[in-house]
Amino acid sequence: MAKTYTRSILASPKEIVFEQVPIPTPGPGQALVQVKACAVCTWEQRVYAGSDKSSYPLLGGHEVSGILVEVGPGVLVKAKPGDHVVASRLTRCFQCTSCRRGLDSICDNAWANRVPGEPAGPGGFSEYMLLDAYQLYPAVGDVPFVESCLSEPLSCVLRSVKKAQVQPADNVVIIGAGIMGLLHLTMLQRLGARVFVSEPNPVRAAKALALGALGAFDPTKENFVEKVKSLTGGRGADLIVAAIGVAPAIQEAINAVGKGGRLMVYASIQPRGSTITIDPNLFHNKEITLTGTVSQGHEDFLQAVSLLTTRTVDVRPLITNTFPLAQLREALEAALNGNNYRVVVTM
Ligand SMILES: [Zn+2]
Ligand SMILES: [Zn+2]
Repeated sequence: MAKTYTRSILASPKEIVFEQVPIPTPGPGQALVQVKACAVCTWEQRVYAGSDKSSYPLLGGHEVSGILVEVGPGVLVKAKPGDHVVASRLTRCFQCTSCRRGLDSICDNAWANRVPGEPAGPGGFSEYMLLDAYQLYPAVGDVPFVESCLSEPLSCVLRSVKKAQVQPADNVVIIGAGIMGLLHLTMLQRLGARVFVSEPNPVRAAKALALGALGAFDPTKENFVEKVKSLTGGRGADLIVAAIGVAPAIQEAINAVGKGGRLMVYASIQPRGSTITIDPNLFHNKEITLTGTVSQGHEDFLQAVSLLTTRTVDVRPLITNTFPLAQLREALEAALNGNNYRVVVTM
């Protein structure tokens, strides 16, 4: 009889099912990975909590690192069994027009390869996973798996800071000092930006200051637009990164962008369908840019794996809790606590 492994399914709000399934054998172009760590992202938190009901049943977990077990024929990635690898688990086809235009972060077929009768999803909260070769990235250096699994969120942030076209000495305001806000802080500082943070939670604001933000303010106690202007010599921000997903924050931010500045909508806005109103003359008279990103391109992922696994970027301050897979419920509950940063599930 084939050996089995444990995988978890987010079946309905707050309902987690563990099941035993056979360990698969990699076919042509596939790789089998023993998962060692998988971080909890906002998507899985929403599905678990019931605020995103579109995805049940979901094989959750897409921020994955582990050990390469076996590769099928035709895998050309330079990695051998036993190597530390990182999985880029979100699917891309590399055949659609978006992928071919370099926009594989918004692949037209990201959900096309569902297996009939199988729950969909990246499946990182499991002991094993099967990858397509393009999803397999060898670690460059040697750090613990709980660190390398954060390559996925870092790669999303790399895509965002590249698209935001940050210049040295730019005045930047990050809205929200959760992990995504703080990863932006880390990368933007390295690019020479002057970074401020808007964050009502004092624990998070203190963390941002400890990691080098030049200032932090509470947007529920201060007028956001006035505060940003006062921090930037009256000019407004060269870049505002919205790392929280609420429409009123975007509405305010657009009026705090200075001439020639950019507003990066990084987080997905909840609830979906929320709207804001914009005076189009802001684009004309101030030449501002309103843009956004989702996910990452494969080059971003390659760079993130290198930065993290050589500890060129140190994410240890951002990992607040680890739980074994059997305590996935506790991990998801911990991730929902606004005072925690990344929660990592270990196998
Ligand atoms: Zn993620
Ligand atoms: Zn595609």
